[in-house]
Amino acid sequence: MARIVMKFGGTSVGNTDRIKNVARRVKAEVDAGNEVAVVVSAMSGTTNQLVAWTNEIARLHDAREYDVVVASGEQVTVGLLALALQDLGVNARSWLGWQIPFRTDGIHGKARIGEIDTTVMRERFAQGQVAVVAGFQGIGPDNRITTLGRGGSDTSAVALAAALDADRCDIYTDVDGVYTTDPRITAKARKIDRITYEEMLELASQGAKVLQTRSVAMAMQHGVRVQVLSSFEDKPGTMVVDEGEIVEQQVVTGIAYSPDEAKVTLVGVPDRPGVAGAIFGSLADSAVNVDMIVQNVSQDGKSTDLTFTVGSTDLDRAHQVLDGLKGELGYSEIVSDAGVCKISVVGVGMRSQPGVAKTMFQTLAAKGINIQVISTSEIKVSVLIASDYTELAVRALHTAYGLDADGDG
Ligand code: ASP
Ligand code: MG
Repeated sequence: MARIVMKFGGTSVGNTDRIKNVARRVKAEVDAGNEVAVVVSAMSGTTNQLVAWTNEIARLHDAREYDVVVASGEQVTVGLLALALQDLGVNARSWLGWQIPFRTDGIHGKARIGEIDTTVMRERFAQGQVAVVAGFQGIGPDNRITTLGRGGSDTSAVALAAALDADRCDIYTDVDGVYTTDPRITAKARKIDRITYEEMLELASQGAKVLQTRSVAMAMQHGVRVQVLSSFEDKPGTMVVDEGEIVEQQVVTGIAYSPDEAKVTLVGVPDRPGVAGAIFGSLADSAVNVDMIVQNVSQDGKSTDLTFTVGSTDLDRAHQVLDGLKGELGYSEIVSDAGVCKISVVGVGMRSQPGVAKTMFQTLAAKGINIQVISTSEIKVSVLIASDYTELAVRALHTAYGLDADGDG
């Protein structure tokens, strides 16, 4: 007997037939003698619609009320899946975030999970009951509903798996695993059988949408065995594992792209201590995530330009924060561009292999693509380019790093 957390994404529960299909999959694990908790997302498209409605009402809205609205999608799917399971004769009960509870901090819209009390759930397991848990949502210190950020039900599932000491966390989705890059961009993308936590973390944070970044960080921290697999096919997916479990290491394992980036340049920022601290401190206080940062060396010792990237959904808020600092800092202007995309190549193999960045820059140059900003980490090189060149860049790099699937190259 094993204890398993199964998580199903939006397309897997996208209509009532699919929910019945999920119920059959869950029943199979129950019939095999396993203890099962199922975490579900909202039906595909639902959360987008809910987010759009809050934006239509107020562009800079109260995040507490945003959470009340967007958490509702998961309430529908847990109820429907519990009904579908009961219809198959499975003893199942739905749980909303606050009922378990999933305690979180108070950062509405991007809350972090603190403690999960699994006492009741363990008792129900002992009685043979399946728990159907709403992903994406929790309850904050003020007892108000919180949500975990887009894609957050992955994190709900991994956090629950950690709290329950589950043997596995299976993340069912509409693709059959993690690919070397987005198969919609190149048909030569390949499924990866095993990937390290670290690589998965970088790929997820650099734009690969298959797992929420926080879910991977949490899996790494707690050693949760995560598998990404298809809810529509019966075959093994991609295992996310420790580096030691991977025998043959590629230099570059995958290529991610993140189109939801915006570039902000502050022109004529005074060159004195404390300025960067004030700018990024204020952005952080407003929960604006900053990613790449470049500051030019000041030519005259008085002022310089500062360029950084934020998520495009944070651009309005970043402008608001920076406008508020204009008097205090005295920069000359803000220039922003939402038409940019970040491309990243990731692989633990690059720790011991020189020349990875060179290949990237030369490959892009050969296609006439201009690099606007560069950043690197131990296992990643990222560049910011104009969005129009995204597909061209990804395809060229996929070939350059030898990732193309055999046979059709
Ligand atoms: N329904 C939420 C979203 O679309 C959470 C999730 O699907 O993981 O972001
Ligand atoms: Mg997802």
